[in-house]
Amino acid sequence: MNAVLKPGAERTTAQWQAADAAHYLHPFTDFKALANKGSRVMVRADNIYLWDSDGHKILDAMSGLWCVNVGYGQKALIDAATKQMTELPFYNSFFQTATPPAIELAELLAEVSPTQFKHVFFSGSGSEGNDTVVRMVRRYWDVLGQPERSVIISRHNAYHGSTVAGASLGGMSGMHAQGGLPIPGITHVEQPFWFECGQGMTRDAFGLKAAAALETRILEIGADKVAAFIGEPVQGAGGVIVPPDTYWPEIQRICDKYGVLLVSDEVICGFGRTGHWFGCERFGFRPDLMTFAKGVTSGYVPLGGVMVGERIAKVLIEQGGEFNHGYTYSGHPVACAVAIANIRLLQQGDVVRRVHDELGPYLAQQFALLAEHPLVGEVQTCGLMGAVQLVQDKSRLKVFAPEHEVGMLCRGHCFASGLIMRAVGDRMIVAPPLVITRAQIDEMMALIRRCLDLTLADVTHRGWV
Ligand SMILES: *Cc1c(COP(=O)(O)O)cnc(C)c1O
Repeated sequence: MNAVLKPGAERTTAQWQAADAAHYLHPFTDFKALANKGSRVMVRADNIYLWDSDGHKILDAMSGLWCVNVGYGQKALIDAATKQMTELPFYNSFFQTATPPAIELAELLAEVSPTQFKHVFFSGSGSEGNDTVVRMVRRYWDVLGQPERSVIISRHNAYHGSTVAGASLGGMSGMHAQGGLPIPGITHVEQPFWFECGQGMTRDAFGLKAAAALETRILEIGADKVAAFIGEPVQGAGGVIVPPDTYWPEIQRICDKYGVLLVSDEVICGFGRTGHWFGCERFGFRPDLMTFAKGVTSGYVPLGGVMVGERIAKVLIEQGGEFNHGYTYSGHPVACAVAIANIRLLQQGDVVRRVHDELGPYLAQQFALLAEHPLVGEVQTCGLMGAVQLVQDKSRLKVFAPEHEVGMLCRGHCFASGLIMRAVGDRMIVAPPLVITRAQIDEMMALIRRCLDLTLADVTHRGWV
């Protein structure tokens, strides 16, 4: 027989699920609960749509995991990988060697980054990039003869990855509760989350108050002990928390005043997500280091790294002495070749400007209309990221009891309706591919409305409103 199998059709969904439950431990997953329920198996994708093993078409409003910025099926990226795999699938950069894609990507990243960045250190992921940040900021102060300057300040509800250093930098209490984190020398301050921490104040006043927490902590610890402050321009995994416009300029002022290094974790915000090449440009601050991953390759292959500002690069280069750090896959030639193709595609398609001028404002306008829905307490957008805060009582912005898991209920309706939207508590979030069209935004918004209506019917039926 010569039947052409559809992707994933070699086995039935039930067979895939049985093998999955028997052998595969998924990230951030309750293994027992998933084994009882069975995974959804994705087999194919094109543009902004996915297909599962039952043939359902799903609009991927999360770009995979915030990464497939140019959408699925882009031939330029596929060709770049194929060509590089054929010519030189791997060589490392350890022993005073390099490969053309790694060199060329370093050059291209310097071109698209803010002017203070001329150098890059590559890793395999965002978490590893943040491990590099920890090693590098401490190395910087060592080289300057101030080794006691080692504390790194981050924020509650931040996400910086899941390695030991990444999870320690992050401010997720559930992650800290497992494995004795954070490691010493990392401390967390208030997040700029107006809905949760700032009600009763204007957003601008709250932005200044949240930033002031950094200054207070620096003074408590002693500025001569503080190495760096790290933050995501917009907190992604925390729930698409867009800070008040007053926040980042005040953070910049405080870091400048005490000589503290400023690190922008651009793993989600980088490469056009906010309508700028990097999120720091949207919020008007000037970091010394930028972590990137996800969108650098649109997720087609793993790659991460750290853009190193001249303040730091100069010291490390001029001082000499080996930096005892690196990864087997630092500068992986296939990953770098794909990243080059991805960045060229963003440039040639004028994608970042389109997010800034057209798609971001259109999403903002459409989300503003959602604010009228009885379940919605707050909407926020930034570029092509959006959040919808579900509330029990709209007039008083009262939230649902956490144990009702209304966000999960809504996410269930999304999945069943052919829409991938993520729930962070009761905050529903989207970050669609940057190549989405206006018509596709309309399609996404219609699905979101439908799911909000279904969720409202549910919570009404259960007597929770
Ligand atoms: C996803 C993410 C990371 C971790 O990246 P991985 O590639 O999963 O290790 C770090 N920082 C931020 C802001 C992220 O969103």
